[in-house]
Amino acid sequence: TDTSKSSGSCPRQLSIRDIPMLENVQEVKKIFNRHLHFTVAKDRDIATSYDYYTAVAYTVRDHLIGRWIRTNQHHFENDEKRVYYFSLEFHMGRALSNCLINLGIEDTVNEALSQMGLNLEELEELEPDAALGNGGLGRLAACFLDSMATLGFAGYGYGLRYDYGIFAQKIQDGYQIEYPDSWLKFGTPWEIGRPEHLIPINFYGKVIDDENGKKKWIDTEIIHAMPYDAPTPGYNNNIVNTLRLWSAKARGEFNFQFFNAGDYIRAVAEESLAENITRVLYPNDNFDEGKILRLKQEYFLVSASLQDIIRRFKNSKIFSNKNKKIDFTYFPEKTAIQLNDTHPALTVAELMRLLIDEENLEWNQAFDITKKVIAFTNHTLLPEALERWPIDMFKKLLPRHFQIITDINSHHLDLVRKKWPDDEERVKRMSIIGGEKQVVNMGYLSVVGSHVVNGVAQLHSNLLKSTIFKDFYELNPEKFQNKTNGITPRRWLLTCNPDLSELISSKIGDDWITDLRELSKLRNYIDNEQFIHDLQQVKLENKKRLVNVLENDFKVKVNPNTMFDIQVKRIHEYKRQLLNCLHVITLYNRIKDNPNIDNVPRTVIFSGKSAPGYPTAKLIIKLICNVARTVSDDPAVGERLKVIFLENYRVSLAEKIIPAVDLSEQISLAGLEASGTGNMKMMLNGALTIGTYDGANIEIDEEVGRDNIFIFGMKIEEVNALREKGYNSKEYYEREPELKRALDQIRDGFFSSEDPNLFADIIKHLLELNDEYMLLADYAEYLKAQERVEQLYKNHIEWTKKSLLNIAAAGKFSSDRAIKEYAKDIWNVKPSMKKLPEPHHGRP
Ligand code: PLP
Repeated sequence: TDTSKSSGSCPRQLSIRDIPMLENVQEVKKIFNRHLHFTVAKDRDIATSYDYYTAVAYTVRDHLIGRWIRTNQHHFENDEKRVYYFSLEFHMGRALSNCLINLGIEDTVNEALSQMGLNLEELEELEPDAALGNGGLGRLAACFLDSMATLGFAGYGYGLRYDYGIFAQKIQDGYQIEYPDSWLKFGTPWEIGRPEHLIPINFYGKVIDDENGKKKWIDTEIIHAMPYDAPTPGYNNNIVNTLRLWSAKARGEFNFQFFNAGDYIRAVAEESLAENITRVLYPNDNFDEGKILRLKQEYFLVSASLQDIIRRFKNSKIFSNKNKKIDFTYFPEKTAIQLNDTHPALTVAELMRLLIDEENLEWNQAFDITKKVIAFTNHTLLPEALERWPIDMFKKLLPRHFQIITDINSHHLDLVRKKWPDDEERVKRMSIIGGEKQVVNMGYLSVVGSHVVNGVAQLHSNLLKSTIFKDFYELNPEKFQNKTNGITPRRWLLTCNPDLSELISSKIGDDWITDLRELSKLRNYIDNEQFIHDLQQVKLENKKRLVNVLENDFKVKVNPNTMFDIQVKRIHEYKRQLLNCLHVITLYNRIKDNPNIDNVPRTVIFSGKSAPGYPTAKLIIKLICNVARTVSDDPAVGERLKVIFLENYRVSLAEKIIPAVDLSEQISLAGLEASGTGNMKMMLNGALTIGTYDGANIEIDEEVGRDNIFIFGMKIEEVNALREKGYNSKEYYEREPELKRALDQIRDGFFSSEDPNLFADIIKHLLELNDEYMLLADYAEYLKAQERVEQLYKNHIEWTKKSLLNIAAAGKFSSDRAIKEYAKDIWNVKPSMKKLPEPHHGRP
């Protein structure tokens, strides 16, 4: 393949992308200069780096716009079924690099900029992440948009345009401090506001019967939803779909009471409080805080999106012939809505309201349509994450929806009684409304209002059927499916790891970019010494790149020739960063006990945010930081062990870390991680996994084979059996001397000379409160697995061969595969790999 392109200083020259044609380079320079002049209003004498970034972004955006408009025309003309992904979170990360790659113009733009003395990679770093998500759930939504566009679907994302995304994390003195993420402070070129599509959203008020006996929701407070559209380009197919995010706008009709009393300032100020609805993303992963503002956000998203979808349906091609009446029996043929967890579960009630109250459909027909349109993805079994709204709060905010859910519930419980006539216990268990705490159960509402329910990995989908939705599975077994999560190879290999992409393409071509199973062809190179050597070299270069980031951005020095042992994800007790930390402490003690020990030098990196209101997770961060301090302050350790906590984990940092991982830590207690997607990203980039038999780790194990992964710890059956028998964490503490020593050190202030009692709560959880996540039970096996890791790493050729086998086996974990399964089994739409014509080729 050709890597012999001009401009030796350009860092990235992928032959699998475009070859910069000179006239295109000239054109890019012209457009760039025009934007610098007319959009940014600067000249080269006074432009800042950020001005240059802005000018590049607008240049690339120009390239998108024609395709975007054409795509919308195409979707209208084709009038195919539209797929709507409803999510409170879209964790998009940066747009520029992704657009360059998906549009195939990276080399051209790179060349143009370098001819002007600018460095693309440096400018890309100035873009703030669009971080409108917490962790895996929001990032999944982003990967799905990429795949939907790449597979040619009329796929739309619907979400909220939070003024503040997930907080920026700083570590001060080992403690997490939260700072606001005001990502929109300087505006963004990657959105276009659409004030003409402003939509009124109602809250509070009351329901009356009108003169025709119909329900009327009146005396409501109205807030407007203003849409902002972001382009989501497919890979190399000229399709640009839309992510529509809603922002709350005050209605501009002041409170007349204050207004007429002459308190103009107060009237205006209070009016603007309405806009708080989309002010900030709730920073919880796998946790429901139960605040009314969150319920308002959920309804705001759902109502605005559904009204918008119905408007689009009414304006669609089937009805464009003036004689054809709007007919909602076509609605399910033309519309699929996927609920990303229960957060948008109000879709069920709001669609019913719109169909019955606004469109005058009969209840039964409305419910039939609603179920056909909606499908629901569950993301967790953790009880603290399951949304249940207090009836009183719910009724007050959404009185009409409470009535509708009550009706849906009666209809549903009638079916339950029909199937189990003498089982009132079961009827009670299955009620959407009620229970001891008098709540509306959003999980149950989602199941009842959908035609398909899916989990996100095989194990998780099975657990749904045997635990939280067991009764519902017995009522409608045909509803339940599995859709194992996936990740987009465009961002998580092609963009983030150009050297590995290049190496792969040099052997098997570049079909893998849109058909990730192609990677299996790499197995043929297992005995190719040169290839194994090249693979080793690529990993080393990626580690050196990360080392530079660590040095420049985090002021830590790391030796790239150590094993990079990495756990990056939200900090959560169930994910067991603390177990990893206990291993680190044990390694440290072994080095101290035996200064001549011949261990593999390791750099253990942790990164991730804790929810601001989650004290135990925050204390775990502090412990990791203190252990890191103790280890690095100890001259006896040297390079044999290094521990680092990297602040502010986010998509753009993940893109730098993941290509450099040797060992991927995926060590949740079995049964608690629904899928995981970080595990897939690291595997695809050549990491070996040390993991429990949980979530998608099980499927990674299936794909790669047990010889090429380090599985350890209790399986879910063993976890359950141990709980049944009676788990006593203290037994393990007494039984394992190295474990006892590590815990004693934490308890006695070995890592916290500033306050010997600092970590008392951690010890309390593990010993007094009986270690809910059973770290102590898995500790011994975890250590043994880590010893196997170490043995293998000593044979670097063997390690690299297994790394190759992991890359080769990662094909299943493409989000393209996941989206094709949703399309076939749930949405009933067919992918199209056909390229749309270039925009200058006229209307479709
Ligand atoms: N946070 C970010 C920024 C991510 O990119 C991802 C996905 O890889 C996650 C969290 C989820 O990680 P995990 O699946 O390991 O919990």
